[in-house]
Amino acid sequence: MSLDIAYSIEVDDYLDPDRAYDFYWSGLIKDKKKFLCPGTDCTAQVTCANLDEDVQDMKVVPHFRIYGSHSKSCEIFNDIPLDLRYEDGVSVKEERRSVDESVVDVFLLERPSSYYDEPKINRFPNQKPVKKSQFIKRPIDSILRENGSVGNIYSVRSVVSRYIRYKKDGSLDHRRVNIQGRDVHYRSIFKCIWEQDLDTLPDYPVIYYGWAFVNRLPSDYGYQIKFKKHFTKSEEGYITTVMIGDRLIDSYKVKKLVTTRLERIIKKEKSTAFVFIYGKPEENVSQKGVKYANFSITNLDMIDINYDCPLPKEYNK
Ligand SMILES: [Zn+2]
Repeated sequence: MSLDIAYSIEVDDYLDPDRAYDFYWSGLIKDKKKFLCPGTDCTAQVTCANLDEDVQDMKVVPHFRIYGSHSKSCEIFNDIPLDLRYEDGVSVKEERRSVDESVVDVFLLERPSSYYDEPKINRFPNQKPVKKSQFIKRPIDSILRENGSVGNIYSVRSVVSRYIRYKKDGSLDHRRVNIQGRDVHYRSIFKCIWEQDLDTLPDYPVIYYGWAFVNRLPSDYGYQIKFKKHFTKSEEGYITTVMIGDRLIDSYKVKKLVTTRLERIIKKEKSTAFVFIYGKPEENVSQKGVKYANFSITNLDMIDINYDCPLPKEYNK
């Protein structure tokens, strides 16, 4: 049986695999084995597989695996619903049920300010067995409260990861993601840059993707990502680039993941990457008359840079 959620000893909270992945790469979690079964009074050991992999594809999406044996009263063991509650007594189950029934994930463009709060260090120093917190923590932000904090998505990386998970469990066709109040089917959320005429694009941001060249900028202030295939308009090509400044990377909590990937990519003989970006391209003409349709980003959660195409073959272009 797979687990949607596990108790992290290191951050003293119940996490889903996407959040555990963010925490690992931002440095809050250091050991993929320091998780426990979320069941009542159960201390079965849980490992978050692939937490330390900086590659995301159909095979290595992070997920929880149980190793220890469950307590007799454990809900997971007995296959009955968990009754996890927030500190104000509201049951997560109730909130999740509405999320599951509508099968809509909510993609929020900003993380709550408390997302990466430091855990209370050593609340249980070397003490065994670990006593799990009784409650799941809930950020104070009211928007989160309305939507339920479990199941929200804060990065393009997580949208890609959810797509892979739903594709694997066969539920993709029913799944949707809500972005800024608009429901989109997971099947239609990604748009290939190559196939798009600028005049036919939606007037709101979506997630574009494609193979791109990655280079250090001549100024050495950051990286340039230049998509291999162009947007078009009246059969003319529009070159598409994204700049990622070192300062933007430095201010990003999950920068270790981004820098690990970028540094490995630019060392390759062909410094190419498969890139997803949430946004809307902006048309521009250079002084020399070259036409551009560029993306600009102010938050690295809005871009996902991969060594290879993490999605099925039909996306690999
Ligand atoms: Zn258990």
